[in-house]
Amino acid sequence: MIQFDDSITDGRIADLRLKEEERRTEALAPQYGYEYIDLHGYTINPEALSAVPEKLARDSFITGFDIIQKTLSVAIKLPSHEPTKEALHKLQEMGYVLKVYMTSQASLDHTWERYKDIKNTQAERKGFFDIGGAEVTAMSARIKDVKDVTVLLNEIKTSNNSRRISETLELIFAGALALGTSDVHIEPEEDAIRLRYRLDGVLYDIVDIDKYLYGRMMSRLKLLSGMILNSKAQAQDGRFTFATSEKEVEVRSSVIPGAYGESIVMRLLDPSAASFRLERLNLNKHVLSVVEQQLKKPNGLIITTGPTGSGKTTALYAFLQQVHTEGTKIITIENPVEYKLEGIVQTQTGDDYTFAAGLRAILRQDPDVILLGEIRDHEVAETALHAAQTGHLVFSTLHTNSAVAGFARLMDLGIDPRTFGTSMNMMMGQRLVRLLCEDCKQPYEPSADDKNIIEVSLATHPHPEDIPPLGQLYRAVGCEACGKSGFKGRQGIFEAIIMDEAVEEVVLRDPREHVILEAAKPQGIPTMIQDGMRFLLEGKISLPELERVVELPRSLSTAIEKTDAVEEKIDDDFLSHVV
Ligand SMILES: [Zn+2]
Repeated sequence: MIQFDDSITDGRIADLRLKEEERRTEALAPQYGYEYIDLHGYTINPEALSAVPEKLARDSFITGFDIIQKTLSVAIKLPSHEPTKEALHKLQEMGYVLKVYMTSQASLDHTWERYKDIKNTQAERKGFFDIGGAEVTAMSARIKDVKDVTVLLNEIKTSNNSRRISETLELIFAGALALGTSDVHIEPEEDAIRLRYRLDGVLYDIVDIDKYLYGRMMSRLKLLSGMILNSKAQAQDGRFTFATSEKEVEVRSSVIPGAYGESIVMRLLDPSAASFRLERLNLNKHVLSVVEQQLKKPNGLIITTGPTGSGKTTALYAFLQQVHTEGTKIITIENPVEYKLEGIVQTQTGDDYTFAAGLRAILRQDPDVILLGEIRDHEVAETALHAAQTGHLVFSTLHTNSAVAGFARLMDLGIDPRTFGTSMNMMMGQRLVRLLCEDCKQPYEPSADDKNIIEVSLATHPHPEDIPPLGQLYRAVGCEACGKSGFKGRQGIFEAIIMDEAVEEVVLRDPREHVILEAAKPQGIPTMIQDGMRFLLEGKISLPELERVVELPRSLSTAIEKTDAVEEKIDDDFLSHVV
């Protein structure tokens, strides 16, 4: 019993000592003209770590932890210590441009631990950190569709080459870049280990990998990502970059343990894709005009809704770029930071830095505009609405199926709808649809059923004059140009509801979806489905593709019943005074 208490006390004292050391280092750093850094939880780049040999690092209280081309970030503990100065000098002589930070002994110890991981894999160190840029570029040129990747990977699989692991990885990334893949998945299952690509939002099986190759690839990818190698039972995140002949590609990786081994997902952040301009969203003119109008306001909350993968982040990043002018302070809190935006302070949630805690911290930084990754609990919702009421423009997302469902969701989170009028500006809804490949799409005559769906969907369109005439529809086929998928590129479909007096009034009186929609009708904004119909009738998307992302109405009455189905909880008494 006593022992038990003691161990807790010991633990606490050790903890306090560590905190004290961090505080002291943080206070000292500016006196030496350095920025302080805490390397616990920081993704240590193995290439940066090994840039400083272990002995030199330990002897001179220094560690490398990040590297971009020749710019090496190092952390030191004792700025006026002679061996430290010499080590810094030595690194500069080796051609590195140094970014020097000050850190604690605990951070140094923590980072030095990682030399073990590097040693463990020393045997296969040759070209270890290389994902050869030239190789990736050369292979990319040979890849026209998913099949090519499969064929090439199968060739390597049977080769006995010493660069087999490197070649496989290079090919995986070459294929991903050539085909415009956003994510690479490696998933061990009972009978096989699958390599899959996500293309335009859909997962494609590429090839099965054997156990040996999988083990080696995982070690290498974890090492590259700065993850701990010998832990197979914990979820880990990391990132690394590789350069092709044309560009530097950042890869964000995430490993989770599973029943048949660890699976890894790698998201490729292709810099050529990271341009977020409002025009690129290709909004219909009605949504565009309300968005532009709402973005001019100095405060209020703008929420976009949709399931995962509906392009919410892209839309909000485009909004940020739109309001980003000199003299506007913008801070984001995201999980994770998906793209680095120039001139914007981006922060990422972590253990103690939750959306709620982060938002409170951000408000003390006096921002004009805040992007809050997601509203998922009462505290975050409340803080976000409060921030919007007190002079900040706040962008965020909700996980609901439509713009109108966002109101109920906020109420479910315990928000008083009476505060909507003074805090909400606009609720949006969106989905991503795959665009048909222009090279191979095939026209056909719409069936009676097709025509019915289209007519029903468009019956309530606020601007019938915008609707293109119903002619032929197009289906996906597949050719060389589109990697045999039939699709090339994606487009968002959008809807929006502005928080005007009419909407505010019904949200308070009768917040059922079709009632709110009726009140919003004078705003004249087409629904997401109607926005999709525009692309369908223009021959840019297929009907099955639209149906994949939204539920299309078969008759006018089902269109209305459907919005009511989710509101069974509203009692008869309430319904009785509704017309
Ligand atoms: Zn095609």
